[in-house]
Amino acid sequence: MIRGVKLPKFKSISKNKRIGFYNKPKFVYIPLISGNDEDITITVKKGDYVYKGSVIGRRKGNFKIPINSSVSGTVVDYTQKVYSNGKKVKCVVIENDFKEKEEIKPVINKKISKYTKQEFIKTIKDCGVVGMSGNGDPTYLKYNTENKINTLIVNCTECSAYATSDYVLLVEKCEEILETVDALLEINEIDKAIIAVKKNDTELLNILNSFIGTYLKIKIVTVPDIYPIGWEKYLVKYVLGINYNVSSIEKGVVVNNVSTIYSIYEALKYNKPLCERIITFTGDGIKKPQNVYVKVGTPIMEIINKIGKTSNDIKIIVGEPMMGKYIESEDIIATTDISCVIILKQLPQYDETECIRCGKCTKYCPVKISPVLIKDSKNNKEKLNKLNVDKCINCGLCSYICPARIDLRSIIEKVRDN
Ligand code: SF4
Ligand code: SF4
Repeated sequence: MIRGVKLPKFKSISKNKRIGFYNKPKFVYIPLISGNDEDITITVKKGDYVYKGSVIGRRKGNFKIPINSSVSGTVVDYTQKVYSNGKKVKCVVIENDFKEKEEIKPVINKKISKYTKQEFIKTIKDCGVVGMSGNGDPTYLKYNTENKINTLIVNCTECSAYATSDYVLLVEKCEEILETVDALLEINEIDKAIIAVKKNDTELLNILNSFIGTYLKIKIVTVPDIYPIGWEKYLVKYVLGINYNVSSIEKGVVVNNVSTIYSIYEALKYNKPLCERIITFTGDGIKKPQNVYVKVGTPIMEIINKIGKTSNDIKIIVGEPMMGKYIESEDIIATTDISCVIILKQLPQYDETECIRCGKCTKYCPVKISPVLIKDSKNNKEKLNKLNVDKCINCGLCSYICPARIDLRSIIEKVRDN
C-alpha cells in the first residue's frame, strides 16, 4: 500500500508563465559542496580568470566530480553563503564580466545516441551532472554499474504543491528530453523507459503523447496524485511492483527526474557543464510568480528583488513546503538542487496542542517508523537506537497529518543531527 495524502495545489500560480531569465548577477558565489560532501579541492586562486563552465573545484574521495563556474570572469574572493540545507558553506566568489565566454572544446559531431557507454559515463561525469532533486549525488554512479539495467524511470511527478520547474522544462523541451531518454536506452542497453506522470496532469500527458509516437521502447505510466509518490522507492514500487533496500539499481532500475535528464542532454549534445537551472519563484510575497532560468551561485534575493516583492517583510521557504526550509538569512544562493523558492508575506501559524495518541503519524509514515515514539524518546539515546531514526526521508507527512499540529519532522531532524 502507498501511504500518502493529497496536497492542495498552488501550481497554477506559476505554471503557464513564460520562462524568465536572470543571467546578469555581478557576482556569483559558487558553493564548494557536492551532495552533502564539503571535502572539495579548490582548483583556482584569487585573480584567476575563469570561463563559464571552468572547473573551480573537485570533490575528493572516490567521486571526483567537478564544480563549475556559471559565469566568465575573475575569482575575487572566498566567502560563506547559505546553502539549500540552511547551513553556511564556503564559496568561491567570481566577478562576472558578462561576456559568457566558454572554453573552446572539441565539437561533438555525432548523435547523442552514438556515444559508447564509456564516453557517456566520462562526459556526464566531466560535466558535473548530479541529481537535481534530492541528495545531489553524481548521476554517472547510477549508470556505472556491472548490473544489467532493465528499466529507466523518468520521474515527471513533481510532487511539490508549488514547484513547476520540471513542468515548464518538459513543455519547452519535450523533444530533447525524449531524444535523451531514447539515447540512454541505446547507450546503456536498457530494455525500456517509463515516463511516470500524475494521472490528472492532462496537459503534460497531452504534450508527451503528441511527441512519443516513434519511440517504441518508451511508455507513459500514470500514477496517483498523492504525496510523496515522487519518492523513488514509492515510484519504483507503484510503477514496477518492486521493492529494494538501498538503491533501485539493485533491481536493475535507474530513476532520473526531468531536470537531470535535460542536463544529461546538454552534456552529451554540447559538452555543457551543469551550472544553470530553472527555479520556480512563487507565493503571495512576489509580484510576478514565474519560473526563472538562473546561474548557480546567484543570490536568491537578487532574483526576488528583480521580480518584485509585494511586501518589505517577506519569508522565504526553499523547496517544497512539506520538506523545505524556512530560511531566515538573505544570504541564500541558487544551487542545482533548488527547484522552488516560495516567497510568503507571512509564515503559516499553527497552535500546537497535546498529542492525543491517535497514531496517525505512524500510520502514514512512508518508511514505517514511529514519529510519536521518536518524539517521546528524544532524550533517551538507548530507546532512540531502536527506532530507526536514520530511515526518515524528511518528507514532512507526520507534521502535516498530526491533528495536534506538532512539528514532528523538525523534532526528528534535530534528533538525527545530534
Ligand atoms: S518526516 Fe520522517 S518520520 Fe515523518 S513521515 Fe516522513 S519519513 Fe516518516
Ligand atoms: S499524529 Fe500527532 S497527535 Fe497523533 S499520535 Fe502522532 S504526534 Fe500524537
